Amino acid sequence: MELLKERILREAVIINDDVLKLDALLNHQVDPLLTMEMGREFARRFAEDPITKVITVESSGIPVAFAAALALNVPLLFARRKKTLIADPDALCERVPSFTKGIVTDIMVSKQFLTEDDTVLFIDDIIANGDAARGLIKIIERSGAKLAGLGIVVEKSFQAGARTIREQGIRIESLVRIGSLEGGKIRFE
Ligand code: 5GP
Repeated sequence: MELLKERILREAVIINDDVLKLDALLNHQVDPLLTMEMGREFARRFAEDPITKVITVESSGIPVAFAAALALNVPLLFARRKKTLIADPDALCERVPSFTKGIVTDIMVSKQFLTEDDTVLFIDDIIANGDAARGLIKIIERSGAKLAGLGIVVEKSFQAGARTIREQGIRIESLVRIGSLEGGKIRFE
C-alpha cells in the first residue's frame, strides 16, 4: 500500500535496528481516513472468504480492525487484556509475552462471542516475533471458529513471526513489509 509507505517514511521514528515507533499513525494517534483505507484494503483482499467477524487484540489493533469490520459489514470482536486473576469459565484465555513492554499479559475472549459457526479475519497493527498473534490464534482454534487469515498493517519481515505462522499454513496479508531498519533506514520489501 503505497500511501502507507509514504506516511511511514514521513512519520515513523526508528528506535533501533528492531523497533519502529509508529505512534503518529497506529499506536497513539490515528488518522481516520488512512485507517478507513486500510480497512477497505483488507476487506478487498479477503472478499472471497465468508467472514462472520473481525477479531483483534486491544488496544492498537482496534481502529483498523473496526475499519475492516465496517467494510465487511460484520461485528468487531477484540480480545481483552485480562486484569484479574479470577478464572472465568466462560472465557478463553492465553498468556502472551509483549515484544515492546517486556512483560507477560493474559488475553481473553468470551466464549459467547466466538463459536464454531464463525469464520474470522484477524487484524493486527504490527507483527514482530508473532507471540501476540499466536496467542489469539490459539484462542480461535480452541473456540472451534475457522480462521480465514491475518491482516497485518506492518509486517517486520526480518523477525520470525509472520514466516513461522505462514509455515503453519495460515494466510497472512500485510499492507507493508519492512525488511530492515538497519543503519537508521527503513527498507520496504
Ligand atoms: P510480537 O508478539 O509479534 O512480537 O509483537 C506484536 C506486538 O508488539 C504488536 O502488536 C505491537 O504492539 C508491538 N510491537 C512489535 N514490534 C513493534 C515495533 O517495532 N514498534 C511498535 N510500535 N510496536 C511493536
